[in-house]
Amino acid sequence: MERNGGGEGRVPLRQQLEAAPKQTRRGGGGFVLASARASLGVCFLLVPALLLLQRWQAGPVPVWIFDTPPEGDGRDMKDDIADDLSPSAQIEYDKLLGGLLIEGFDERSCRSRYQFARYHRNAARVPSAYLIERLRRQEALQKKCGPGTKSYNKALKQLSSGQSINTTDCNYLFLIIHAGLGNRMLEITSAFLYALLTDRILLVDRYKEIADIFCEPFPETSWLISSDFPLNYDEFTQSSPESYGNMLREKVIGGNTYRSLVGARPPFVYLYLDGNYGFHDKLFYCEDDQQFLKGVPWLIMRTDMYFVPSLFLIPSYQDELSRLFPEKDTVFHHLARYLFHPTNDIWYSVTAYYKAYLAKADKRVGVQIRIYETKGILQRNGPFPHILEQILSCAQNEKLLPEIGATAEAAAVTAGKNQTIAVLTTSLSSWYSDQIRKRYSEHQTVDGTTVKVYQPSHEEYQKSKNKKHNMKALAEIYLLSMTDVLITSGFSTFGYAAQGLAGKTPWILFRSTNHVAPDPACGRGMSIEPCFHNAPFYDCKAKRDNVDLGKVVPYVRRCEDVSWGLKIVNQTQL
Ligand code: GDP
Repeated sequence: MERNGGGEGRVPLRQQLEAAPKQTRRGGGGFVLASARASLGVCFLLVPALLLLQRWQAGPVPVWIFDTPPEGDGRDMKDDIADDLSPSAQIEYDKLLGGLLIEGFDERSCRSRYQFARYHRNAARVPSAYLIERLRRQEALQKKCGPGTKSYNKALKQLSSGQSINTTDCNYLFLIIHAGLGNRMLEITSAFLYALLTDRILLVDRYKEIADIFCEPFPETSWLISSDFPLNYDEFTQSSPESYGNMLREKVIGGNTYRSLVGARPPFVYLYLDGNYGFHDKLFYCEDDQQFLKGVPWLIMRTDMYFVPSLFLIPSYQDELSRLFPEKDTVFHHLARYLFHPTNDIWYSVTAYYKAYLAKADKRVGVQIRIYETKGILQRNGPFPHILEQILSCAQNEKLLPEIGATAEAAAVTAGKNQTIAVLTTSLSSWYSDQIRKRYSEHQTVDGTTVKVYQPSHEEYQKSKNKKHNMKALAEIYLLSMTDVLITSGFSTFGYAAQGLAGKTPWILFRSTNHVAPDPACGRGMSIEPCFHNAPFYDCKAKRDNVDLGKVVPYVRRCEDVSWGLKIVNQTQL
């Protein structure tokens, strides 16, 4: 119903404008021309008046940056200006996020870096002093060995030569980027943690719009692989002979001495860790294999997953991980806040939208709707009434949104309460938010709360290679992360990213099957961590497959939404 801006005011405005010509037609006879002129005149007067009224009702109209191009850097994004954030947002905030970030970056070229904290008040999860120390060490390493340095140029030369080389002080993990935005954030975070654990420099694919959506995370260097990188990594697939899994299968590595460096010291190894990977690829998560990979100067990784839970099961990383994350379920929360800073255009649209529609509400409820069911080839996102009912029963049963359908007397008693809830829905389809908005506008709520529903975009289908589409997706992940309460769709990494940035345990909508909503409609997540969807079930020590690795340590469990996945939880939460 509403396109892009998502403001409630647009609906009545359009209905009223559409109503005007109809009255003209009804007039008939000799009056037609005169009444048409009169109506046109009224329209000319009415339109500005309605626009003004709309503006007055909805607050400032958001400039949805992706539809209105920005004008240079002159937009009002300074951090010191008074704006219309709610009073609680005006209080002092820790722009360095407990020490995760450092001073010294240029604020103008990346506003989100130091403004993030202003929209995310969550001091409860404090990063450990050791994590902060390790981040500083990693930054120094990234700078010392990053693109353009002597060490980097030398390492590239050696890589092009194809000869066996030894590791040096500068060893690299290059991440091939692909998949949707949520997946990308999870894969980059996992790769970064792996780089931190193995003292490698993390570099990412420069051709996948990363620079359009995220600012550089490391000071005085770049995390983008240089354009003279010698390998055609886009041609690497699961069956490439350079893949670790294939080398193991073909016994290129080790020969008789299983996975030893004897007889093989490749200049690089390609790690294929996408969701459809095979048995040998998954040996990456074994201790012996980690020991072998230590001796390889370049690792080239392709993954679309949050593989952090499996790192917690590798003995040689366990102590370090416990020191880094004494609160175990904060890995993505801290590292995503450290790594991801949306570029100015995205941040501008996020903050403008927040201020226009969300800031002044008494409570903000984020509802992330991701549909995996289909009906024929055309109905990819529905509309599916059972999913609408699932969302409403979750929200109302869990008391996240008020019930509707109060009697006239009850409505009169509660009318004075005057509380407002802003619901931010994100979805590829607009149907669900239109329906929720309709329910709340046509019926009174039982407690007198006013519920307003907003949806920033409805892209209809996924277009992961489209820059603007990705910018919208990231903007919406950040808007979701600014809400007070989150309802997410199980299985979706889009929702995982939002909950992790927010540090909020979501209510997870369980997946429906055969077009029937599950009962219960949703359940509270065990932690704020994402789920590792395709975790291996191989016990490396016992050399046995199909072992339930969700029972090995108390802080790695099977996920609520993906029964075969693994997820980190806090021991205290069990
Ligand atoms: P997942 O597939 O749900 O795990 O999430 P991903 O983010 O990895 O991939 C889904 C992609 O589809 C997103 O990155 C967007 O490109 C698009 N998409 C899905 N849901 C939404 C939505 O609510 N809003 C927008 N703007 N895009 C969405």
